[in-house]
Amino acid sequence: MKTSSSIPALSGRIRVSQGSCPRGHSLMSASTLLDGERAVSATVRIAGREGMIYLNPFYGKFEYECDLAIKPGDIVDLFCPSCGVSLAVDTLCRFCNIRMFAIHLPDGGQVEGCPKVGCHNHSLTIVDLDTQLERMYVEETKIQM
Ligand SMILES: [Zn+2]
Ligand SMILES: [Zn+2]
Repeated sequence: MKTSSSIPALSGRIRVSQGSCPRGHSLMSASTLLDGERAVSATVRIAGREGMIYLNPFYGKFEYECDLAIKPGDIVDLFCPSCGVSLAVDTLCRFCNIRMFAIHLPDGGQVEGCPKVGCHNHSLTIVDLDTQLERMYVEETKIQM
């Protein structure tokens, strides 16, 4: 039986290693690293401008690199760089009341984030939480050894 759970940010202990768009294209950057790991990349649009944004792949960390000038309070729209599909989902940020974006994980879970720059609302929704957490922690442990 599959269960779905939301857990709060765990201070950067969990890393998104295989994030994708709703159609299955990988969002992992081949060249941009943040904290030494492949960043989650997306096409970003704001006020008619378009660029690329690279998000720290560690859940609960909020650093990013963006080739557009964006500032706290800006609301960005994120799209898959491969197919252009919007990453927006129906979940509303409980602070900003705007639609969040989602990065899909391999087993049907997803990480949702608020597209307002500076808002630190993140939630991780995972199907089969125990299995996925176990795998992510194992992977994390290996990296540190
Ligand atoms: Zn895509
Ligand atoms: Zn928000």
